Amino acid sequence: MKGTSKVVAVTGASSGIGAATARRLAADGHRLFLGARRTDRLAGLAAEINAAGGTAAFRRLDVTDAADVADFASAAHELHGRLDVLVNNAGVMPLSPLEALRTREWDRMIDVNLRGVLHGIAAALPLMRAQGGGHFVNIASVGAYEVSPTAAVYCATKYAVRAVSEGLRQESAGDVRVTLVSPGVTESELADHIGDPAAREAMRSYRAVALPASAVADAIAYALAQPPEVDVNEIVVRPAASVR
Ligand code: NDP
Repeated sequence: MKGTSKVVAVTGASSGIGAATARRLAADGHRLFLGARRTDRLAGLAAEINAAGGTAAFRRLDVTDAADVADFASAAHELHGRLDVLVNNAGVMPLSPLEALRTREWDRMIDVNLRGVLHGIAAALPLMRAQGGGHFVNIASVGAYEVSPTAAVYCATKYAVRAVSEGLRQESAGDVRVTLVSPGVTESELADHIGDPAAREAMRSYRAVALPASAVADAIAYALAQPPEVDVNEIVVRPAASVR
């Protein structure tokens, strides 16, 4: 095992970046607690990690439900006696132009991408404070730094996650570390749920050059591997061939 074994809870671990992060951190010797709504996927991933000699457990999780997120964090804490890291990764990206007025999708993005992260902080911060420290890894996006057509609301949620992360960092007084990880286009299921036809078509070319999800997992592993006095604040990772 490399370094210290931490207890790491990952939201949205059933696919894409969350699943890749679970695999990578388990291989580094950390103990994983996985959450998402698709428990069949979580069961398969946890079994794969445990069969490979790692440690993983899972629990159904809907990050839009504050009480559910609190139970998720408490379950990880009860299983291992502590919760060192929460990776706030769960996210959705149903892109559309504002004039399409897909207001239910706007609400969904706010509920999952922003409220979900806030629920994670509310659930884990008291546990981390009580045990003397912890680490939040919040997954934003290059959309936390620039806005593009069809992505106004998605980017708004990611700008907000960046703001919340910076605020949490400033308030942490050294015991709680905060890392914002902002990927560019990454292979995952994220774009599969775009309902607006024009936005879906535009994404086909935009997403043609993509990072493997393992590249984002590697960035997260780097932040976790730093000594306690080092807080990696922000990581932006894009495909080398990406312009934006
Ligand atoms: P995926 O669609 O592959 O994964 C999204 C994950 O979020 C799934 O595990 C899904 O699980 C989970 N999720 C969605 N809604 C909920 C919910 N209500 N409660 C709990 N879990 C939920 O996409 P990615 O891996 O790409 O996305 C991960 C993060 O990376 C997101 O925050 C995304 O915004 C961000 N990102 C991705 C980029 C990319 O190009 N792929 C670029 C920049 C940022 P389930 O459906 O089982 O609940």
